[in-house]
Amino acid sequence: MIQEEAKSKPDAPADIMTPRGHKMTGEYDVVCRKTSRYVLLKMSHSQITKAEDVRGLIFKLFKRHNVSNVNAKIHITAQVKYGKGGHRMKRGKRIPYVALPKGDVRTGLIIHEVAHAIVHMRKLKTNGEPHGGVFVEIFDRALTYYYNELYQIDDKTWKQ
Ligand SMILES: [Zn+2]
Repeated sequence: MIQEEAKSKPDAPADIMTPRGHKMTGEYDVVCRKTSRYVLLKMSHSQITKAEDVRGLIFKLFKRHNVSNVNAKIHITAQVKYGKGGHRMKRGKRIPYVALPKGDVRTGLIIHEVAHAIVHMRKLKTNGEPHGGVFVEIFDRALTYYYNELYQIDDKTWKQ
C-alpha cells in the first residue's frame, strides 16, 4: 500500500472553491471538503515561500511532527511541475521525501507534500485514499502549527 503510494503520480493543483464561489488554484476538492482549517488552507495557497526559505520550512515542519529530518531527501528541481511527498528507502531505512518545483513555492503546496511524507513516515493506512481523512488530519495539524507558531497569526483570525 505505502509502496504503491510512493509511486503515485505527482500532485497537480486543483481549484479551490471558496464559500463565495470563487475559484482558487492549489488544492484538491476532496481536501477542501474535509479540512477543518479551511481558512488556513486557503491562506496557505495564496501565500508564497521564498526559494531560499523552502528547505528551512520543510525541516521545521518535520521536526515539529517528530519526523527525523537528518536524512530527509528534498528534491528541488525544474523537472517537477507541482510536487510530490512520500518516503524513500536508504540502506533499509525509511527517509522522508519531498519534491518541489524550483524557485518560490506556494506555502500550501509545501505543507501538502510534507503532510504526505509524514503519513508515509508514520506508516499510516490511507485505505487507498491518498487525500482522505488520514492525510487531511495531518495536513490540518501542520497548517495549524505553521500559522500558530511560525507565522504567528491570532487564533481569532482563523477559528471560525
Ligand atoms: Zn497530494
